[in-house]
Amino acid sequence: MKVLITGGAGFIGSNLARYHLEAGDEVFVVDDLSTGTIENLKDWLDHPGFKFYDQDILTWDGLYAVAARADRVYHMAAMVGMFRVIKEPIRVMAINVAGTERLLRAIHAAEHNPRVIVASSSEVYGENPCKLPEQALDEELDLNFHANRSLRWNYAISKLADEALSISYAKQHGLPVTAVRFFNTVGPGQTGRYGMVVPRFVRQAVNNEAITVFGEGNQKRCFCDVRDTVRILDLLGGNQDACGEVVNVGNQQEISIMGLAEKVREISGNHVDIVRIPYEEAYGMDFTDIFHRKPELSKMLRLTDYQHRWDLDDTLEDLVARYRADRKTVNS
Ligand code: UDP
Repeated sequence: MKVLITGGAGFIGSNLARYHLEAGDEVFVVDDLSTGTIENLKDWLDHPGFKFYDQDILTWDGLYAVAARADRVYHMAAMVGMFRVIKEPIRVMAINVAGTERLLRAIHAAEHNPRVIVASSSEVYGENPCKLPEQALDEELDLNFHANRSLRWNYAISKLADEALSISYAKQHGLPVTAVRFFNTVGPGQTGRYGMVVPRFVRQAVNNEAITVFGEGNQKRCFCDVRDTVRILDLLGGNQDACGEVVNVGNQQEISIMGLAEKVREISGNHVDIVRIPYEEAYGMDFTDIFHRKPELSKMLRLTDYQHRWDLDDTLEDLVARYRADRKTVNS
């Protein structure tokens, strides 16, 4: 299979590249390295089945040709990370919507339409529309968020537009597209630079720095290992019943952010402090946090029949070990 990954130098994209190369597929990555890094691709830059295009999907002339060659497309290119979303709210809207629109147009123009997976996000659920605090978020819920309450929602609005574009191409042109709502995804290759909590906590604990919990720490998240995520995406891509659908992708193991900080500290073996930082200080005044976010996974499980292989403890142990090994390489 020929696989095109936009945003393939990013966290989920580079894990997809690894997975498909290991499966013997040919992989083309397009990435402008604005968030992703060449470091994420270094293991296979010379691999005969791999090609990297350092290009912006909004302007690159070669996009149509590369889309026409693919059997499968994963559209992961987007501006992500809460720190960036708040700092560059206009670019988030412009890039995330225009990039998806141009890519889908290119795919539609191809003679043979590849199977397409478009990245959306659990951010589209907004300020948790569940009536009960422990209820899982399912794809049928009505969505409720406000463009003028926090710049945080620009990302959600851009991703909802990406979903709408995907479904429209599926319905109007019969394009085999699935939009996936990623819940918190963690694993190798993720940077903490733009705010993601797990790589930040791992780095802080291993470096013997205080772990920074934003807010009270009783907000909860469910973390899914990216090595499970990429398998799920491949299974969705192989299932025609997933075309024209929006599907949650994640894991239901839930933990509070304070619980996560304590777990990372314990696994690191370092006796670091855990400090609470007020949201205003962490993000500026213009911020609303989500206090509870758990995916309903019955649709994903019906379409993939997938059993997760990674639990959070294993993932964190692996990340702590990798971070320590990388530090040693850098310092030696
Ligand atoms: N968070 C934290 N400390 C950090 C970074 C993030 O306590 O150094 C919190 C953040 O406020 C949120 C949770 O961890 O409540 C998850 O944040 P992330 O940005 O990883 O994901 P999202 O908020 O999009 O679920």
